[in-house]
Amino acid sequence: MDDLIKKAAEDLSGAKNVTALTGAGASIESGIPAFRGKGGLWEKYDPMEVAHIDSFLQDPVKVWNLLIKDMKDVIDQAQPNDCHKGLAKLEDLGKLKTVITQNVDGLHQMAGNTDVIEFHGTFAWQRCMECNTHVETRHVDISEIPPRCDCGGIFRPNVIFFGEMIPQEAHWRSHQVATECDVMLVIGTSGVVQPAAMMPVVAKESGAKIIEINPESTLLTGEISDYLIKGPAGDVMKGIVAQIEKMD
Ligand SMILES: [Zn+2]
Repeated sequence: MDDLIKKAAEDLSGAKNVTALTGAGASIESGIPAFRGKGGLWEKYDPMEVAHIDSFLQDPVKVWNLLIKDMKDVIDQAQPNDCHKGLAKLEDLGKLKTVITQNVDGLHQMAGNTDVIEFHGTFAWQRCMECNTHVETRHVDISEIPPRCDCGGIFRPNVIFFGEMIPQEAHWRSHQVATECDVMLVIGTSGVVQPAAMMPVVAKESGAKIIEINPESTLLTGEISDYLIKGPAGDVMKGIVAQIEKMD
């Protein structure tokens, strides 16, 4: 792993334009549970029941009580981990321009990254379904469910529920930054969920080097990624940033 961390540090130092694509694995060390896979939220809940837009519209009280309240608890308290901090540091160093994320926890922005494309929207903000006012989730009063805006409208998380479209602009911009980067860091995502999974392919086809950081090999490993650094995202990013700082 140490040799690969050195290699990644060299590749990133030599790069002009780095993009990162992050998934659930980037936030696990911040205590955010994954949705998919073993131990994920969708083992506990049926997403079609608790996370489909039709369920929410039919019964917002139920969806708030079953899922959103718990997520609010977790996300209100979550702090960026060494993976988020490492990516923010890479931006400070003038290497990293854009983070594309499948996560909805807002932790990249909290860590300090300024250009974050959120494929699935953000749970860090709620919006009123009547007047479209946006309020930070941690400032929403949930003493009554569903929480309501001053106008009487119901608040909903500013995420993409199942049955809703990925925002066009997020899709279009990610495609563009994937085309323009010369190194893409793929962190904590197995490359299955579209359209995010397409971005490493787009970057690769445009000539970028793909550095994968995941605890296990994935569909991308050996196919799309140039190499895989196996390990927890926070440890690996911390190691890479320390190495880059040593080199400068
Ligand atoms: Zn309102």
